[in-house]
Amino acid sequence: MLQFNFDNSYLTLAPKLFEKVLPTAVYAPRLVIFNKALAAELGLNSDVAEEMIAELLSGNKILQGSQPIAQAYGGHQFGHFNMLGDGRAILLGEHLTAQNRRFDIQLKGPGATPYSRNGDGRATLSSMLREYIISEAIHALQIPSTRSLAVVATGEEVHREYTHEGGVLTRIAASHIRVGTFEFVRRFNDLETFKTFVDYTIQRHYPEVMNTENPALALFTAVMEKQITLIVNWMRVGFIHGVMNTDNMSICGETIDYGPCAFMNAYHPETVFSSIDKGGRYAFGNQAQIAKWNLTRFVETLLVLIHPESDKAIEMAQEVLQTFNPKFEAQWLRMMRNKLGLMHEEEGDEQLIHSLLLWMQDHGADYTNTFLALIYPEFLKEALYQNDAFKAWQQEWLKRMEIENNLASIELMRQSNPVVIPRNHRVEEALQASAHDGDLAPMNNLLAAIAQPYQKNSEFSQFQNPPADGGKNYKTYCGT
Ligand code: AMP
Ligand code: MG
Repeated sequence: MLQFNFDNSYLTLAPKLFEKVLPTAVYAPRLVIFNKALAAELGLNSDVAEEMIAELLSGNKILQGSQPIAQAYGGHQFGHFNMLGDGRAILLGEHLTAQNRRFDIQLKGPGATPYSRNGDGRATLSSMLREYIISEAIHALQIPSTRSLAVVATGEEVHREYTHEGGVLTRIAASHIRVGTFEFVRRFNDLETFKTFVDYTIQRHYPEVMNTENPALALFTAVMEKQITLIVNWMRVGFIHGVMNTDNMSICGETIDYGPCAFMNAYHPETVFSSIDKGGRYAFGNQAQIAKWNLTRFVETLLVLIHPESDKAIEMAQEVLQTFNPKFEAQWLRMMRNKLGLMHEEEGDEQLIHSLLLWMQDHGADYTNTFLALIYPEFLKEALYQNDAFKAWQQEWLKRMEIENNLASIELMRQSNPVVIPRNHRVEEALQASAHDGDLAPMNNLLAAIAQPYQKNSEFSQFQNPPADGGKNYKTYCGT
């Protein structure tokens, strides 16, 4: 039997913070993929008949100890506040591992909830497999992320622009507490409820701030630092989240809500794939400033706890917020130095980094493979890198490398630069085969390739290249 060790602490919070709701049964659940490695990490027995897993992780049968709820939250979507909530997700409960680690077990796409508004509460099989692939890739890239335990096909139709088969994803998260949850609790609940919720979040994610002089301010500082690290990591691997609304920003610093996200091929800071992001608000190079904007919305909710006088509270919050840019820039610079193997810090480094980025931008060079060209001769062979401007840059870099320990530098570069990312065209190929043609082989190959993204493996070389046309016209969609 698939048995979680449920301990559902969220239900101890005020009733307005969630609604009890059961998944809506589906016609013919069929297990498409199950993450055995993750099941083992969670201490689950996965030696269970596929039919049973499909029944349980579609929501057709309720797991023992589960107390399903949909969580309430709000959020600034493209700058405007809306009341949202789990419209197509149901939290089955919190699983405690043997090591006492707490994880939310959530179904995504299990049918309507009180927060569904006009939506059907469903998701397409293809979009849930997409989240599975990309979240597992982000995790393998050693970037904090929600995880994917399973995807079950529903045997039912979901109507979008076209008709698709439905799918239910089992998502695992340290929690689903979002900036948008804080916004909802602060705006629509009394102060006592908000205080209890803040304490709950601190105990769950940042127990170390509990005994500080000003826990609310310390919480904000800690969340800000987690977000900075997260965004720097996204920048390192060329990840574009695509819809960094405040409801899609997790307080614990995990990448969450894989919707119109994608990986950049050719480097350009203005790269956007999301079909609805017309103004480029969530473009690759804007992600840090958007995180700061979201954090400002977050700290606004906390002002009342930071200081009883609002002017003073604002001043104290601003003092912390003002450290965002310098902290981000310092971490970003360290990360870029790592990508170039520069362990020491020299004055001209920033210039060296920016001139490489500018060269990539001018020549449509692939972000991932350009760094690999500095490590692996086979990438360097490409015609693009025979370009004079690149060669001149490379000479400068080699000169700068003279003060570094070569072996250690190369090792640092290998750890900082992925060889395999889930390239958009490969992801699409895998989804076409798995969700539409019933052929799981391309998806399993892709998952095997992205499982060890920093290792060069000739078996997976077909996953290293960008599409022939550069993939510039690739588009992604929200909420499919
Ligand atoms: P997202 O773009 O996935 O972050 O979703 C934004 C909001 O829309 C969240 O409150 C979702 O729960 C809700 N939502 C998205 N798709 C659906 C759907 N098919 N049915 C109901 N609610 C949905
Ligand atoms: Mg969302």
